[in-house]
Amino acid sequence: GIYHSLHQLKGTDQNIPITPNLDTATFVLSQFPPSGQAEELIALIDSATNRRVTYAELKLSIYKLATGLYHGLGVKKGDVIFVLSPNCILYPTICLAVLSIGAVLTTANPLNTASEIAKQVKDSGAKLAIAAPEEMHKLLPTGVPTLLTLRGKDGVALSVEELIDCCEPLELPAARPALSDTAAVLYSSGTTGASKGVEITHSNFISIVTLLRWSAEVTSSQNDLFLCFIPMFHIYGLAFFALGLLACGTTNVVMQKFDFLAMLEAIQTHKVNNLPAVPPVILALVKYDKGGYDLSSLRRVGSGAAPLSKEVTDGFRKKFPWVEMRQGYGLTESCGAATFFVSDELAKTHSGSCGQLLPSFTAKVVDVETGMALPPFRKGELWFKSPAVMQGYLGNQEATAATINADGWLQTGDLGYFDEDGCLYIVDRVKELIKHNGYQVAPAELEATLLSHNDILDAAVVPLEDEEAGQIPIAYVVKAPNSELTEDQIIQFVASQVAPYKKVRKVSFIDAIPKSAAGKILRKELVSRGEQKLVSR
Ligand code: AMP
Repeated sequence: GIYHSLHQLKGTDQNIPITPNLDTATFVLSQFPPSGQAEELIALIDSATNRRVTYAELKLSIYKLATGLYHGLGVKKGDVIFVLSPNCILYPTICLAVLSIGAVLTTANPLNTASEIAKQVKDSGAKLAIAAPEEMHKLLPTGVPTLLTLRGKDGVALSVEELIDCCEPLELPAARPALSDTAAVLYSSGTTGASKGVEITHSNFISIVTLLRWSAEVTSSQNDLFLCFIPMFHIYGLAFFALGLLACGTTNVVMQKFDFLAMLEAIQTHKVNNLPAVPPVILALVKYDKGGYDLSSLRRVGSGAAPLSKEVTDGFRKKFPWVEMRQGYGLTESCGAATFFVSDELAKTHSGSCGQLLPSFTAKVVDVETGMALPPFRKGELWFKSPAVMQGYLGNQEATAATINADGWLQTGDLGYFDEDGCLYIVDRVKELIKHNGYQVAPAELEATLLSHNDILDAAVVPLEDEEAGQIPIAYVVKAPNSELTEDQIIQFVASQVAPYKKVRKVSFIDAIPKSAAGKILRKELVSRGEQKLVSR
């Protein structure tokens, strides 16, 4: 990427074609290996059971499930399908079957509570839900019109496995989804407030799949063996493992969720060479003994979803000198992508950077005070344009307009700078978002929960740096006069109402929450208080 006039930066290879007139599923399926190879090549391996699915079997199961949903259950174009499950080898089949009939996917973290799930069912207008057996109880009370379980015959609900078994792979509906049709609604809190539905179109997805194919080609990782513990409900796992890599002909070993020892074991057993990861996993690899496991098959490790420091990156390279280590950066609103390193040489000499702008992206670094675009090395808010940028927030024009400006720039709320080689360094966030182990935690949601307590007069939640998790939410609380509320009680109160990864982990009592004249919480002031405490500890 090179800086142009007006301090705008363009990604390399601007001309990679975004395949026209094919919807996501048709496009991904068209990239599957041809028959002859498809019967041999393994697409997915269940790391727990070692069950293998070839590309031919995957294709068949997608067509059969699509038939079942469309002809059997009457799912129509535009209907929203809620998927609530940890990773499993059926997940990609479900995603591609849903997309292939023009229905809209919405996914959630299975750790979310029943009330968080109910909210999303309502906001997304889900018509049908598919849940892992152990998550069914969260969907039953939501009143979603049709409910399927993933597997087995439990007599209560039809399962996806049964549906696949009993249906013929009929033709897909002739009316294909348009590129501008919504393909998925993924939830993100964006720069402020509560979680909102990010509307991803088929055209957004195809851009991402195309970028992944481009990067697999440039780094020659087609036909590689990937390990997947990144959750497929998040854009990172969805874009890579449920869609993009299947269009690159890779073999993907699927773990239900992250577990350090199980990861080491899977790498050794399957001779994994590619490991898309997140900073806490990289830190664990640097810090912990690798327990005699043979990790010599590893060739490439990636990190994204949260900042990875130069120190940890260098520590990783030192301990695993045979492995290429690359950071990427993106957000749900940009379909998961923005910058990445395709050259290991560049990644090595720019440790701490999260890569160069991807093809089809344009970036600006904008002074938060003046709104002026800044030259290299100057810190500001990152703005992007790309065909991968979301349509907007579902049913929320105000939030959309506050995020994508009139000229079409996505204002990320991330603070960073590009160097003279076009490598991006993220230094901070101007948005409220807290990231715990790569998962989004929205302060506004925790503040609302805190304020629902009778003894709490005011509250603000901000991030506190944490070596392992990246950040933890700390709550500043003004309690009612004479209240004997303790830190522990507050932590318990919040923990009983939110998903475990969102819980407040520290509480500090305060006389008044610092606010601007307009009543906005002065978050930076609270963050620096937390930092001072850390220093004085
Ligand atoms: P999500 O929408 O859950 O993917 O969260 C996106 C946010 O995660 C970004 O706006 C950043 O704040 C943060 N993030 C993602 N990747 C990186 C990275 N490589 N370095 C720093 N922050 C990151």
